[in-house]
Amino acid sequence: MAASFQGFRSLIENSPDAISLIDTQGEILYGSASTTKIFGYQPEDLVGRNCLELIHPDDRDYSSRLLREVVAKPPGPLKWDARVRHKDGKYCWVESTLSNQLLEAEVKAIVMQQRDIQARREAEAERQKQSEALVRSNLRLEEFAYTAAHDLREPLRAVSLYTEMLVLNTPMDANATRLAKFIAEGAARMSTLIDDLLTFASTGKHEPLRNVDLGDAVTQATENLGLAIQSSGAEVTIDRLPVVRGREIPLVRLFQNLISNAVKYGGPDPIRIHVSAQQHGAEWVIRIADNGIGIAKEHQERVFLPFVRLVNRDIPGTGLGLSVCMKIVEGLGGRMWVESESGGGSAFSFTIPAEGNVVSMDCRVEAVAGGR
Ligand code: ADP
Repeated sequence: MAASFQGFRSLIENSPDAISLIDTQGEILYGSASTTKIFGYQPEDLVGRNCLELIHPDDRDYSSRLLREVVAKPPGPLKWDARVRHKDGKYCWVESTLSNQLLEAEVKAIVMQQRDIQARREAEAERQKQSEALVRSNLRLEEFAYTAAHDLREPLRAVSLYTEMLVLNTPMDANATRLAKFIAEGAARMSTLIDDLLTFASTGKHEPLRNVDLGDAVTQATENLGLAIQSSGAEVTIDRLPVVRGREIPLVRLFQNLISNAVKYGGPDPIRIHVSAQQHGAEWVIRIADNGIGIAKEHQERVFLPFVRLVNRDIPGTGLGLSVCMKIVEGLGGRMWVESESGGGSAFSFTIPAEGNVVSMDCRVEAVAGGR
């Protein structure tokens, strides 16, 4: 047998992977020098043993099935990961590739190529552990933000109510009236902040996915913003938008936040907002473009973080709108970004999976209000 391996052996002897030749039952006929490096065994210790014996009991049935498949369907290389016992008794993760060379005159065996992937597996397990810990910690943080915001409502209501009663029932000089007005304004700002925090913290709590017509979602959003759009004189145009698998209320909120920002951060020209969609492979890219004040390059990633605002207090807002949008998009498996230039308008885009979930397309163009 060994003589017929000579040509083949010279090719594999220097390979960093362990290469073994096995018969149709898994018995090892030959092992390359690298088997020592990976498994600790000298090649001659392995010859005559069954390779399935060295595989972890939990991975053995599956591995044995793959061997039978490769034997039945030449040459079909098959690759899989399994734990293999090292000479020191510990199991290590190994990627094995089996190819059927039974009909090759030089080989006449199943070729098994094995690579040590223990470090890769450990890194993957560590990453998985970290991402699960992050999800748990985010959930706890959301719970905390939700409870804190919820509990702050009551005392805030009391502050507003008693300030109002104080103003109505107590004779006050101009200075005291001015101070009471500051308290009322502060309480109103805090109330908006609490509402936005509650929205942010509850955005991750999912209702089931349904087919949502994005055209209807934008229409709903523009209706909700009717007053703001009309008083700003903004013109909103909407292209054909797809039907996607999503959650209606969050999707309306997503469009509402983006369109409301486009109105709030309009520039000197009459505000124009355009909503469009393009399919790129397995996803839709939905774009909300405006001709407003724009966002400088260095701030374009930051604006998606909670509480980041680039404007002064004269423009109302809590800095939570875009982080809510990002959470909604990520909750549907998408990504979100902005393309913009300071003074040159902004285009916010988000992706939403399209594969297998597009039911129909709708076409509408809507000018909610004319120019200023
Ligand atoms: P808010 O509008 O309550 O401040 P957001 O999270 O929605 O909070 O937005 C964060 C910041 O990003 C805003 O304060 C603003 O500076 C900037 N921004 C958002 N949308 C736009 C836009 N369409 N054009 C220019 N700047 C924008």
